[in-house]
Amino acid sequence: MEWFREWLGYPDTAGGLLTSGGSAASLDALVAAREAAGYPERASVYMSDQSHSAHLRAVKIVGVRAEHARIVPSDECFRIDMGALASMVAADRAAGLKPIAVCANAGATATGAVDPLEELADLCASEGMWLHVDAAYGGFAVVTERGKRILRGIERADSIVLDAHKWFFQPYEVGCLMVRDISTLEKPFGIRPDFLQDALWGSGHPNFWDRGLQMSRSARALKIWMSVQTFGMAAFRRAISSGMDLAARAQEYIDESPVLACTSPASLSVVCFRVDPADQDIANDDLDEVNRTVLARLFWEDPAFMSSAMPRGLFSLRLCIVNHNTTWDDVRETLEAAERFGKEALAG
Ligand SMILES: *Cc1c(COP(=O)(O)O)cnc(C)c1O
Repeated sequence: MEWFREWLGYPDTAGGLLTSGGSAASLDALVAAREAAGYPERASVYMSDQSHSAHLRAVKIVGVRAEHARIVPSDECFRIDMGALASMVAADRAAGLKPIAVCANAGATATGAVDPLEELADLCASEGMWLHVDAAYGGFAVVTERGKRILRGIERADSIVLDAHKWFFQPYEVGCLMVRDISTLEKPFGIRPDFLQDALWGSGHPNFWDRGLQMSRSARALKIWMSVQTFGMAAFRRAISSGMDLAARAQEYIDESPVLACTSPASLSVVCFRVDPADQDIANDDLDEVNRTVLARLFWEDPAFMSSAMPRGLFSLRLCIVNHNTTWDDVRETLEAAERFGKEALAG
């Protein structure tokens, strides 16, 4: 946890816990946010249309009414629209709601989008709202200089979620919640039952059950510690940098391809695109169908594994490079296969 704290640029007061994953970590974060806001009756929470479904679930579980989870539109780069957010917060206050938190993206799942973290930190500070940053996928970019620049401002968040089982190459399950001030997590979760009195070893010895839902727990830190000791941080930095480089290079290839079109620009290690030949005018529904066929053929006939996404409602192929073994040849061959399958689907 100390490693993560330092990588994120968090102060000494920060701390957290390892969880099963990002969803569990975000739930704990919203419990802390609700407590910090004084547990208001009519709370509202804000997130962009790119936010992970885990937040809607967390909002429901912490008892914020589903209709008070406000979905804010995103801009052309899939970042939260700050103007829209500010007016929604103002309108909700005027209507008697208590805005308690913003859930920001630092690497949205579908598009890799990073919300303007500095601006969000300013808004949250002036509005007295909790800033929760979902960096489940993207957060480990902070171990590289480039990633640190892209995620500038993340250290101003009240809470941050990371998933080491994503871009830190760990086996399931290991997520993480970090809060800037550990007391904000221990206040809602700290309960001292008699039957655990023998396990209280005094200050400086954290009991993780005081920080989240889970009591009996496995030693999730071991695999992280061991792989860093074995491979060294330079290997992790290299692998994460390479993911970003490959996504940028994939975008260049897509931009130059007569058959492919980019549907969400490369951000961190994600880029979305689809078969959409520049010289043909094809209806969107037909293109969706063509691309579904391309995705299925890539799955069954090509060694690559890609998923799909719907940026701006367009069925797209989603390239997300989080495997330390992936090379440019792998990416190029995958893009070539998409072009080939695309042409065949259009001809057929
Ligand atoms: C994967 C992911 C989550 C959910 O994390 P789990 O570990 O699957 O619970 C939340 N947010 C983002 C951005 C993710 O990529």
